[in-house]
Amino acid sequence: MSTPLKLRFFNTLTRRKELFLPVGKTVKLYTCGPTVYNYAHIGNLRTYIFEDVLRRALEFAGYRVRHAMNITDVGHLTSDADEGEDKLQRQAERERKTAWDIAAFYARAFEQDAKALNILPPHIVVRATDAIPEQISLIQKLEKKGLTYRTSDGVYYDTSRFKGYGKLARLNVRGQKAGARVEENREKRNPTDFALWKFSPTGKKRDMEWESPWGRGFPGWHVECSAISMSALKTSTLDIHTGGIDHIPVHHTNEIAQSEAATGKPFARMWMHGAFLVLRDAKMAKSAGNFVTLESLKAEGLDPLDYRFFLFQTHYRQTLTFSFDAVRSARVGLVKLRETIHRLEHYTQHGENATLERSMSKVQGQAHQAIEDDLNIPKLIAALFAFATILNSAMDQERNIPRAAALALFHEYDKLLAVDLFRKKIAIPAEIQELAEQRQNARKKRNFAEADHLRNEIHAHGWLVKDTPEGTKIHRKES
Ligand code: AMP
Ligand code: ZN
Repeated sequence: MSTPLKLRFFNTLTRRKELFLPVGKTVKLYTCGPTVYNYAHIGNLRTYIFEDVLRRALEFAGYRVRHAMNITDVGHLTSDADEGEDKLQRQAERERKTAWDIAAFYARAFEQDAKALNILPPHIVVRATDAIPEQISLIQKLEKKGLTYRTSDGVYYDTSRFKGYGKLARLNVRGQKAGARVEENREKRNPTDFALWKFSPTGKKRDMEWESPWGRGFPGWHVECSAISMSALKTSTLDIHTGGIDHIPVHHTNEIAQSEAATGKPFARMWMHGAFLVLRDAKMAKSAGNFVTLESLKAEGLDPLDYRFFLFQTHYRQTLTFSFDAVRSARVGLVKLRETIHRLEHYTQHGENATLERSMSKVQGQAHQAIEDDLNIPKLIAALFAFATILNSAMDQERNIPRAAALALFHEYDKLLAVDLFRKKIAIPAEIQELAEQRQNARKKRNFAEADHLRNEIHAHGWLVKDTPEGTKIHRKES
């Protein structure tokens, strides 16, 4: 890249857009991973796509990135505030499997979804159950500092002992204490206190449990991210920590309390949070059971990358309402870009030179500004659409265009967007499908004149139909 990008991101900690500068040569990026007791819903996947674009933008800007993520396979209770059952254990009972089987199955399903969405695998992925010693040692550090206490069901963090508790969420902790909130766990000293270690219930063997200095049990949910992020990335201070906005008031607030109390250093310099994907009248939640998965999209004839592209029409910090129709209309835009590229690849140069250098550097300028401005991907897409329009009109006018440079530009941005702009197989538009079906019906009725007429019409739209032993195939006509 000619001029290095100056990335500015909105930091939840300061509620401002800040210039991003990593401490070392490599950006240390940590992402809260999935709780693997069910399939990821497309809301969860929105967050992972935002994080993927963030990583790709850092790489696009020339940084080396080390990206770590946990897999929550133990300890996440049905309430984020440490009440209720372990989500995995509960699902295991429902499916009559062990919690280990549940974790392995849904972790694999998550990996497959991520792959289909062109989400790069983090460099380091650590399952909570593989980091028990790290979690125990972190709890011991907190214990030595006198920040923990025991109750009948576990070891808790005394949040009143951590100065600045709730700074990320700007929680009014005093207000919470005075408030009328009914506490489910009466042994907790403060409503915001949370479990670091939970004891196994007496007389019941859990699938996942470990010995610890406090008794047999399992780690709390928050402690895994503090322990895993710092050990995996070998640092006390991460460059960027990410997650969905729901994590601000509890999970990330507690991660900060644990990590900063243990190390005495700021835990993350930049906190970035993705906004929610919602259904028209409800929040999409695994626990509420009202969720759409990648499989549901596929069943509607949509490609995972149509969904990825749909997300790019909205800034990551804005709530986005999902509908299948909205994804379908986003797909039209994606197909248009792919068709322009396809046309460009097969375009025979002729005629006068179209002076596109200026529009190309303008597009590049706009695209870079968009990326620099808190990952404004909708703006970047708008610049690409504008460029596609210019190219199409130059090709309509049969001008000589800087083809290689234009293709290189799309290539460069597709490294960031990862929506397969150069995909060879182009989605067949609905009207062509419709004509092909009418043609099939005409053939069945042996009305060959009508079938030929429909074939010509399909041809006139730039498509070819071929009858093969496996059925009728539709291809884009090469220009
Ligand atoms: P979980 O698997 O429940 O731990 O969540 C995985 C990630 O998805 C977390 O970063 C959550 O903040 C995020 N998330 C949960 N629900 C939504 C939603 N409806 N839209 C966007 N992100 C979400
Ligand atoms: Zn986390």
